[in-house]
Amino acid sequence: MHMNFTDADRAFQGEVRDWLKVNLTPEIVGESKVARNAHMPKERLLDWQKRLAAKGWLCTNWPKEYGGPGWSPTQKYIFEMEMANAGAPGTSPFGPKMCAPVIMKFGTEEQKRRYLPPMLHSDLIWCQGYSEPGSGSDLASLRTRAVRDGDHYVINGSKTWTTGAHIADWMFCLVRTSTEGKPQDGISFVVFPMSTPGVKVEPIVTADGNRDGNNEVNQVFLDDVRIPVDQRIGEENKGWTCAKYLLEFERGGNPYSPRLRSSFERLKRMVGEAANGDAKLGRDAAWREKLARTEIEIAGLEMFEMEFYSKLTGGQNPGPLSSMIKLRGTEVMQQVQEYAVDVAAHYAAPFPNQRKPNSNEEPIGPEGSDVLAPRYFNGRKMTIYGGSSEVQRGIMAKAMLGL
Ligand SMILES: Cc1cc2nc3c(=O)[nH]c(=O)nc-3n(C[C@H](O)[C@H](O)[C@H](O)COP(=O)(O)OP(=O)(O)OC[C@H]3O[C@@H](n4cnc5c(N)ncnc54)[C@H](O)[C@@H]3O)c2cc1C
Repeated sequence: MHMNFTDADRAFQGEVRDWLKVNLTPEIVGESKVARNAHMPKERLLDWQKRLAAKGWLCTNWPKEYGGPGWSPTQKYIFEMEMANAGAPGTSPFGPKMCAPVIMKFGTEEQKRRYLPPMLHSDLIWCQGYSEPGSGSDLASLRTRAVRDGDHYVINGSKTWTTGAHIADWMFCLVRTSTEGKPQDGISFVVFPMSTPGVKVEPIVTADGNRDGNNEVNQVFLDDVRIPVDQRIGEENKGWTCAKYLLEFERGGNPYSPRLRSSFERLKRMVGEAANGDAKLGRDAAWREKLARTEIEIAGLEMFEMEFYSKLTGGQNPGPLSSMIKLRGTEVMQQVQEYAVDVAAHYAAPFPNQRKPNSNEEPIGPEGSDVLAPRYFNGRKMTIYGGSSEVQRGIMAKAMLGL
């Protein structure tokens, strides 16, 4: 998208670039997922988030009254674009981008005072306890029980695919508080520290090779976990409303297009430079068509994302627009990852395969290409988490097309 930035926008862009020069240290870049397809150690993630928080740039979607920067959609876009171009790592979205909007809308004043400032200052990392073994797309079928015992709930059950549970300090969690009526009517939205007795986290090994403390996802077991009733957000048995509201922010809350554009520019350079040594690629008509189609997709996505941020700035809910953004953002990103593996060919394989036999030499492929295959495998998740592509299409068919 060719945006006409005003002088004020350009000044803001300069401010972001200057800030990045000082704060995006080589250690932060080197340990980020962008560079290694690995997860930053918690201390490094907190270091990065605290730098952003100190500048007031961590909770960028928040309204000004809660400490957000009050940016225009264009400023938000510029910020994300500069972050992507600089190779800056993402931040943990679960507190600031997902749980916070729920607390702002459904929480009591006391809950807002308790939970929002530590998110704003990046004092705590959160994780999301929605999915269960057997309850993913059909989330309302969840079975983790919370039974009232005086001023407490006692929770028993299990959550799965919980991203970052092993580094999280708190979890927001959907629990079943009633089995009466429709499944949606018996769910409550609660929050609790991961250090609560009875919470156990087990890593899940994934196809991208991440494991052993550097894992991404986990299964979480909840055995007689006792939490005070005042850690429920919203009314008892009305948690489904909170859950759906949160998903609107999960699906659209992180713009895809700036990082997508940055990956696409890298892909274009790879095709042009023929990373696998095949200099004909850049002149190949089929490749040129693939690149043109992808560029059009990204431009379309940018328009939807600007609409999304305009809605937030205007105080509206994102609604089903977030499904459209999630669907196209993730599918096009996967396409770009697949093309990158195609171009890099065997150099895309992870490190050990690139060594010459019986040698301790460094990888022999083009610099950085050995992250492409792990990234491709990691990227398969994007069309599954936050609601699979099929589920997003279902939502759009109903809410946008009235089918
Ligand atoms: C890497 C990763 C990270 C995740 N992180 C988290 C997390 O932090 N917290 C959390 O709570 N969850 C997380 N999830 C879980 C994710 O939300 C679920 O995997 C997702 O909702 C799909 O559920 P499922 O895996 O049970 O698949 P299923 O629901 O069993 O779906 C299987 C297949 O059936 C299709 N399908 C199901 N229902 C329909 C339908 N109605 N119409 C058409 N097709 C349908 C699906 O599209 C899919 O292809 C994560 C998942 C992954 C892969």
